[in-house]
Amino acid sequence: MADANWSARGAAVRVIFLGPPGAGKGTQAARLATHLGVPKIGTGEMLRTATARGTPLGRQAHPYMEAGNLVPDDLLVALVRERIAEADCARGFVLDGFPRTLPQARGLEEMAGGDPRAWVVFDFEVPRDVLMLRLSGRRWCPSCQATYHVVNDPPKRDDLCDACGTALVQREDDNESVVAHRLQEYDERTFPLIEYYRGRARMVRVDGNRPMDAVFRDLLHALEVPA
Ligand SMILES: [Zn+2]
Repeated sequence: MADANWSARGAAVRVIFLGPPGAGKGTQAARLATHLGVPKIGTGEMLRTATARGTPLGRQAHPYMEAGNLVPDDLLVALVRERIAEADCARGFVLDGFPRTLPQARGLEEMAGGDPRAWVVFDFEVPRDVLMLRLSGRRWCPSCQATYHVVNDPPKRDDLCDACGTALVQREDDNESVVAHRLQEYDERTFPLIEYYRGRARMVRVDGNRPMDAVFRDLLHALEVPA
């Protein structure tokens, strides 16, 4: 367990979250980053910042984003490299939504260098029917961006935002056929990463089909961090 004891070694904590859409990675990643006092690096946010700042890489990424296309792996890797070189990442960082493909994972390994065991990879497992229910039940306020869930976190009044009263909508990403497609895409493109990281990083399997607080306690326990 010594290799996970990053705080005692003074090493930076580098955390990767793997798992299908709907597994709760984003929520846990944000909470963990706050708890550890390190940045959470989400690719969407990172891309928006880089393009808004007009950095050379941001300018390269801009046409892809504007056209709604995926940003190529090498460009995304370069952006992450730029981001984790910033001063606030010196003590570590939590990656959310990256890497998603094998080329991204290889790029990340090259840029990070050093002891691969310094990486902790949380592999979230959630049964497929639970994922379908979680994702297709999501509702979203187009006005204030608040999020709800028809079963787990319903608004007080049917289909209306608690905060601003706007009619809630289902994002196109969350309708059932799109959800099924996203899960299939995960199987094809991201699932091989689990195999890749086995033996290269410290893999921690997480049962994501439990209450959020219980999942979070597992993460802290694995990192040997006090709650
Ligand atoms: Zn609202």
